[in-house]
Amino acid sequence: MKLYKNHLMKNYSNMKIGGIAKEFIEIENRDELIEILKEKKNRFILGNGTNTLINDGELETTFISLKAIDYIKDENNGVVEVGAGLDFSDLIDYMEEKDYTGLENLAGIPGSVGGLVFMNGGAHGTEVFDRIVSVEIVDENNELRRIKKEDLKFSYRVTEIKEKNWVVVSATFKFDKGYLKEVVDKYKLKRSENHPLNEPNLGSTFKNPEGYFSARLIIEAGLQGKQIGGAEVSMVHPNFIVNKGEAKFSDIIEIINHVKLGVKDKTGIELEEEIIIVRN
Ligand SMILES: Cc1cc2nc3c(=O)[nH]c(=O)nc-3n(C[C@H](O)[C@H](O)[C@H](O)COP(=O)(O)OP(=O)(O)OC[C@H]3O[C@@H](n4cnc5c(N)ncnc54)[C@H](O)[C@@H]3O)c2cc1C
Repeated sequence: MKLYKNHLMKNYSNMKIGGIAKEFIEIENRDELIEILKEKKNRFILGNGTNTLINDGELETTFISLKAIDYIKDENNGVVEVGAGLDFSDLIDYMEEKDYTGLENLAGIPGSVGGLVFMNGGAHGTEVFDRIVSVEIVDENNELRRIKKEDLKFSYRVTEIKEKNWVVVSATFKFDKGYLKEVVDKYKLKRSENHPLNEPNLGSTFKNPEGYFSARLIIEAGLQGKQIGGAEVSMVHPNFIVNKGEAKFSDIIEIINHVKLGVKDKTGIELEEEIIIVRN
């Protein structure tokens, strides 16, 4: 395990905003994880930081990274256990190598496997849970448990793991044969065209309310292009907020509140954040 005190967090969030954390710990195995979880009550499990906004002041939080738990264990019958710290893009590459199919629609999502499982991330009609057999988690009693998918509650961008603040250690997937390279290429290209990938951002800021698209509601409310300080409602994708360079945490919070208010006034619909915010 590696422990860093007074650690600058700016580069751990894809928004490129973040202050000084009291502690940052890189975990290397399950025993260390359980030991640290028992000890640190005010903690935050960080994956790739592609969905997490971090305050730019002094942070009392202990950040815990599972990036070193990034193994792939293949049973060679389509069943693959993957460490939570693995980049999801590495799993897609592995699927190509082994000719596995099932999660190609998610290609291009920049998170870690743990981050995706935590929130049941997905895209283009597929969710990561579509291919999950079981997950290995540490629960609220610091017990390591393997839970079968059928024994776990999950829905759109919500899981029992998130609700109960469990820690994902690994996920086991079941793939079929027949990797669809053209699907991966298509969606990666689509992302490069429709997402502001050259500016710091956290993906979709708001969940889609049932029956609506947040992006459309934001356009209808006339909010695309709105700027507050260094934050902007992206001209490329209105559900993305981008950091134009020097945005502060407070700029992002203000623009989020402004958009929520504007959409509520115009359409009566309340947007709810999809991004995770670490305030202190
Ligand atoms: C350009 C762009 C495009 C995106 N497109 C999509 C998309 O199409 N679909 C989609 O669903 N998301 C999308 N996202 C959002 C994001 O990539 C996903 O939500 C991803 O799953 C987050 O993973 P992460 O490792 O970066 O999580 P982080 O941002 O590090 O963390 C997010 C949350 O997950 C928790 N977490 C992370 N790892 C663990 C773990 N091992 N155990 C327990 N909790 C954990 C954190 O505590 C936090 O609450 C996009 C983001 C960007 C920047």
